[in-house]
Amino acid sequence: MQSLWSDAEAAQFAGPLGPRVYTSRLLGRDKSLVLHGGGNTSVKLREKSLFGEPEEVLYVKGSGWDLETIEPAGFSPVTLGYVRRLAGLPRLPDPQMVNELNTHLRRAGAPSPSVETILHAILPHKYVDHTHADAVLSVSNAPEGEKRIREVYGERVVVIPYIMAGFDLAAYCAREFPRQARGNTVGMVLLSHGIFSFAEDARESYELMIELVSMAEQYLGRKKAWHIDFGATKPSSFSREEVAKLRRAMSDQAGLPLILKVNDSPKFLGFAQRRDLAKLALQGPATPDHVIRTKPVPMLGRDVAAYARSYREYFERHAATAQEKKTMLDAAPRMALDPGLGFAAAGRSARDAAIVEDLYDHTIDVILRAEALGGWRALDPRHTFDIEYWDLEQAKLRKAGSPPQFAGEVAVVTGAASGIGKACAEAFLKRGAAVVGLDRNPAIETLWKRPDVLGVTCNLTDSKAIQQALDAAVRRFGGVDMLVLNAGIFPASQSIQDIAAESWRSAMAVNVEANLLVMQACHALLKLAPRGGRIVVIGSKNVPAPGPGAAAYSASKAALNQLARVAALEWSKDGIRINSLHPNQVFDTALWTEEVLAARAKAYNLTVEQYRKNNLLRQEVSSKDVAELAAEMCGALFAKTTAAQVPVDGGNERVV
Ligand SMILES: [Zn+2]
Repeated sequence: MQSLWSDAEAAQFAGPLGPRVYTSRLLGRDKSLVLHGGGNTSVKLREKSLFGEPEEVLYVKGSGWDLETIEPAGFSPVTLGYVRRLAGLPRLPDPQMVNELNTHLRRAGAPSPSVETILHAILPHKYVDHTHADAVLSVSNAPEGEKRIREVYGERVVVIPYIMAGFDLAAYCAREFPRQARGNTVGMVLLSHGIFSFAEDARESYELMIELVSMAEQYLGRKKAWHIDFGATKPSSFSREEVAKLRRAMSDQAGLPLILKVNDSPKFLGFAQRRDLAKLALQGPATPDHVIRTKPVPMLGRDVAAYARSYREYFERHAATAQEKKTMLDAAPRMALDPGLGFAAAGRSARDAAIVEDLYDHTIDVILRAEALGGWRALDPRHTFDIEYWDLEQAKLRKAGSPPQFAGEVAVVTGAASGIGKACAEAFLKRGAAVVGLDRNPAIETLWKRPDVLGVTCNLTDSKAIQQALDAAVRRFGGVDMLVLNAGIFPASQSIQDIAAESWRSAMAVNVEANLLVMQACHALLKLAPRGGRIVVIGSKNVPAPGPGAAAYSASKAALNQLARVAALEWSKDGIRINSLHPNQVFDTALWTEEVLAARAKAYNLTVEQYRKNNLLRQEVSSKDVAELAAEMCGALFAKTTAAQVPVDGGNERVV
């Protein structure tokens, strides 16, 4: 492991917290040290009160901040002397500890200080860094882990047995640290949890962390336990429908739609195909705080009901001996390991699922290296339960608001790179859905850079390209719940006697046949949508009121309209509803070039200006107006509606 320190970069971090912010970010950059909000850091500063009196303030990472992106505002200032005194109390329940920390903040509105704050306070050094380094976990979770840790570090670290983070751990360390610390002590290992380094200088503390973790890596190297061979034997048997079925079963068990992210890379597939998989994977997480996102163990295979039964048993066994009454979480797995599929990570959002995947990516490394050292040993499930059902976590659960309308659901939008399609993607994202944007324009691939969007370049008249795009969609999100058929073309205005065969055929190919192909390919997935499949067809005012000079367009949109009506008849038994909306004159789209606009105005004997406001309400209709209605058509408002055709045209006399 290399130090990432750079003098030039460090110089950009000014102010008393500058060095603390910089080295915290350096720790955050290395995923084998900390992942997704894990780990924490602090600095003790001497300040003056308004009355000029000196005060010692502990700035510690606040909850909700990630080390990689932390800013000065992410550190919570607490009164050091008071927090240190707390460590001497004989007993302090964790909810009360949180109250004491929050009422001894020096800045109103600061985030809640880390639950490991007291631990930072009792260490005498100015800078304290704490990570859950993979290499240290591999060594400490092997047989005779404590002995190995002492062998690696000697007196340089204080060694603490596993105790759950919170008051008990801090109080134990307050007693044990002075007993074990020597003149050359620069760190502290919490067995099965992580490692601390500390110093008077930010850079020194950071580089000690790198040095200490490197020592664990070198130890693994010397014991031939560093390089891991994943060795997948059988290729992936990925099938869209199988994945969507699994997602459906997991969502039904959770009582809410879940995103399911599949990883069948050689590493995950190889791990899932190991003969000793059950022994390795069913012991528990690499470090206990993963459990909040991953559940204690993955599901092996695809039997969700069996997993739920054993989860219930685990809950009942441990809840019976807990001090407070516990509320059971849903019993659905958050991870699946299957020899054909590899790995699948579940979450309430695409971001959550991606985090679960990251955590397990590192967990595999930790497990296999510990196994190579002589045998992977996870913490006792009792400890895992204590974290999963910690008072503080249960309280968060009670406070959590209602999730967004389409949380855990997936919307496929065709023609999503511009105009109405792009606005639809935004409308679904705003409502919490993950979005798969298909477009023949390759710009779609980089239009949104976020974990809940997948942009795929796709020619929708090519059925093979559609299959490939849906494979990618299901690998990323696990299924398709909603489909917006938006892509379409508007051929140049021509009277019937002048229409070229090619122009007619391409209107039919893109506006009708491509939609048929997409619907056919999505049908099996929509059928498996946890809340029922929904399709929205972006039709046209030309369906009820065709325009002169637009025969190819009007005829193709009318054919699409009939296709949608038949789909409503045929697919209602599969729980799929399909509704159309008929926009008119949505000028902020690529269809409406200056030429088209001029030609259409001429066809109605209007000026361009008259044509733009040519509706009963005298209102211009925007892409966003259409998109918002498209999204609502997939929501509760239209839950009992199928085969509806709704105009979005400002009111049109010919339609009325
Ligand atoms: Zn920790």
